[in-house]
Amino acid sequence: MMEQRKKKPRAPKPVLPSQEAERYYSGQLRGMVRLMAGELIRALEPELKRLKRDYIADAKPTLDGWTDDILAAIRGVSRRFSSSLFESQIQRVAASTISRAEADNAEDFRKSVNQAVGVDFQLITLPKGMQDYLEASTAENVNLIKSIPDEYFKNVETIVLGGMKDGLAPTAIAKQIQEQTGVSARRAKLIARDQVSQLNADLTEKRQAAAGIEFYKSEDAGDQRVSGAPGGKYPNAKISCYGIARQDIGYGPGIYKVGVGASWGGKTGLKPGKHHPLCRCIAIAMIPGVNYFPKDG
Ligand SMILES: [Zn+2]
Repeated sequence: MMEQRKKKPRAPKPVLPSQEAERYYSGQLRGMVRLMAGELIRALEPELKRLKRDYIADAKPTLDGWTDDILAAIRGVSRRFSSSLFESQIQRVAASTISRAEADNAEDFRKSVNQAVGVDFQLITLPKGMQDYLEASTAENVNLIKSIPDEYFKNVETIVLGGMKDGLAPTAIAKQIQEQTGVSARRAKLIARDQVSQLNADLTEKRQAAAGIEFYKSEDAGDQRVSGAPGGKYPNAKISCYGIARQDIGYGPGIYKVGVGASWGGKTGLKPGKHHPLCRCIAIAMIPGVNYFPKDG
């Protein structure tokens, strides 16, 4: 279980979100968006062309006649992205993302703490409630993924019906659909980044608690995009990651209790990586005698 002290202890390295998990997740979601858009355009193009003459010629269009065909075409595609087959596919994507993120976090956390204490703990017990957490997280991600096609096809219906009512050319409608595809692609990318980052934050906290680490130090990303950083891009942000990393609530600058977190701007329980959406802060484990020297200890 424990080997002899090998190296001089040093402050634990930050446990960063798994790049591999994010790359995988983001790639899978990008593929899904591409597939959605491709199938939609294929189904819609002939319909729009066929109906073009009717809806441009009709000065006072009665929608009932020709909306049916268009709606049927859109819904035929959208149904494939809400089928049970699709659901089992996204279930696999979510589970696979989470298991990659979990495995990387476990390995990086072990390395980080072992380096800091100078010994090698081979056995790290699975933190309490971990299985439940991972299952809940998988379900949450399945819902998030599902929301991408749900929103996409709903907005596409609005675009197509509105465009036809206004007598827009099929090319103009196609352009708006393309923009909507871009919106979905950007959202997919944000979901991948935010979810992997939140997983890392939660898993790190659980592992710190399980390892008996009492305090962590909040570290911001140290660049222009850090919220609340003076002279940065967001000096007046409501939640200041810059401020959280520096305020002293009695344990030292930026130091907080594991499981409790920081308070800022009237909000409590703020944890690194989750101070606000896309927060990039990390929680460095404070190990007494290594990088933490309590005043009265
Ligand atoms: Zn932050």
